[in-house]
Amino acid sequence: MVKYTGKGVYGAVAIGRISVFRKPDAQVKRIHIEDTPAEKARVAAAKEAAAGQLQALYNKALKEVGETNAQIFEIHIMMLEDEDYNESIENIIESQSVNAEYAVAVTSDNFAEMFSSMEDTYMQARAADVRDISNRLIANLTGTASSVTGSGEKMIVCADDLAPSETVSLDKDKVLAFVTAHGSSNSHTAILARNMNIPAVIGAGDEFLTNIKDGDEAIVDGYTGEIFIDPDEQTRSALVSKQRADEEKKRLLQELRGKDNVTLDGRKINIYANIGSVDNIGAALLNDAGGIGLFRSEFLYLENSDYPTEEQQFSVYKRVLESMSGKKVVIRTLDIGADKQVDYFNLKKEENPALGYRAIRICLTRPDIFKTQLRALFRASVYGSLGIMFPMITSVSELERILAICDEVKTELKEQGVSVPDSTEIGIMIETPAAAIISDRLAPMVDFFSVGTNDLTQYTLACDRQNPDVEQFCDTHHEAILRLIEMSAENAHKNGAWIGICGELAADTTLTETFLRMGIDELSVSPSFVLKVREAVRNLDLSK
Ligand code: PEP
Ligand code: MG
Repeated sequence: MVKYTGKGVYGAVAIGRISVFRKPDAQVKRIHIEDTPAEKARVAAAKEAAAGQLQALYNKALKEVGETNAQIFEIHIMMLEDEDYNESIENIIESQSVNAEYAVAVTSDNFAEMFSSMEDTYMQARAADVRDISNRLIANLTGTASSVTGSGEKMIVCADDLAPSETVSLDKDKVLAFVTAHGSSNSHTAILARNMNIPAVIGAGDEFLTNIKDGDEAIVDGYTGEIFIDPDEQTRSALVSKQRADEEKKRLLQELRGKDNVTLDGRKINIYANIGSVDNIGAALLNDAGGIGLFRSEFLYLENSDYPTEEQQFSVYKRVLESMSGKKVVIRTLDIGADKQVDYFNLKKEENPALGYRAIRICLTRPDIFKTQLRALFRASVYGSLGIMFPMITSVSELERILAICDEVKTELKEQGVSVPDSTEIGIMIETPAAAIISDRLAPMVDFFSVGTNDLTQYTLACDRQNPDVEQFCDTHHEAILRLIEMSAENAHKNGAWIGICGELAADTTLTETFLRMGIDELSVSPSFVLKVREAVRNLDLSK
């Protein structure tokens, strides 16, 4: 038995086998080759395998997400057969006597660059498709195609690190737990693991990744951050008991379903759920969430290989609202950039991505994307109780611009005969110190605030949430953060707005009393934490 230790980010125990998630090597090497016909034959075999994989993905998507979303795989199959693309690969192999991987990588770069430089946004987005099919070909050529999708058994997925886009593309039905060698606990990958309700450990180290292999037996303890490879009998039986106790605890919490979120002295609070996709609604309802306090709409963009259309978005938002049957649903507008990268947006590499071109900054400079989303949201709003929330606000003028665009979109819709109820609430995230400090100016302009403690912490304490080395300097209970939240709560209430917290800190039950004493009206947490927070609220007595 060998033990490794990382940081547990979702407490639960998983017992199973390891599947190493391998990314295609970003650094494809140029190798001199004598036998060029053999290289071309390798490309043909890789292409045949890719076509089979894409057909399987098409069939799966058709069943799970419908024809419109599945079409992208048909496009990929067609691109794989594109004459110019294939000729370019063969020419490079032949004329330069180089390996197939290198020829595919160069062709991919050339074609992607050509698409990116086109005026038409549809054609620009094809750059990401060319990269996608080329990566698939390279993975097939190097034998590094992810093994996660291959096996029928649920596996413990181990990776160097996982980008949010990679995490969402994993087949959730086959993931028993996550372990990454790197990563930080506030990253979106960690948040996704919590939302998906699966044990997760991050930062297990390079040695862990070097020493494990596909099929190894392992136990992941998401509470302690320990991973046991080839566990001995004693460890196994201890962890099986822990797993059972854990399930029992969760079963007991289920008894709180249907009960009020009320303190012993009668103070009520809303406890909502954070979700990243329609798939998480079941978990939100199962855990008796009073609403959705944060729907991270960017995952819709991350799961797609092209800009989701107004119709696609409308049908997703409508489904979320209908599934919640009139309970509040707060949908946050697109928050990409920083760690959440979407290829087809073709965003530039930045020195300081967290301080860069992200979230509302993209929306305000690309109104076509923003308006498409707002149209879909306002159209869907008749199906329930919608709150639209804007991320990364730093100034009054930004909010003025946003509200003007909302008015424009609503007017356009009304002129087209679409009914837009006035009851749709408008809110902003308080996730920059600037927003908290000027919350007295922002509050009269909105219906609600929701505090994003993940970013508020990173910006207030100058600690990159992606960087595990600074995690020890990142005190999430820091007085500065609590004061900013308190100040925002006071300003919200003075102006008749409500205030919630939707960052990860909302689930920290050691702070529940503090938040309630500040007057926080709503806590929005991963679905699996709703009942735990309810339990904490019900044990509090604020009269003392
Ligand atoms: C936050 O910053 O706290 C938040 C809820 O948003 P995200 O984690 O998606 O950046
Ligand atoms: Mg944020």
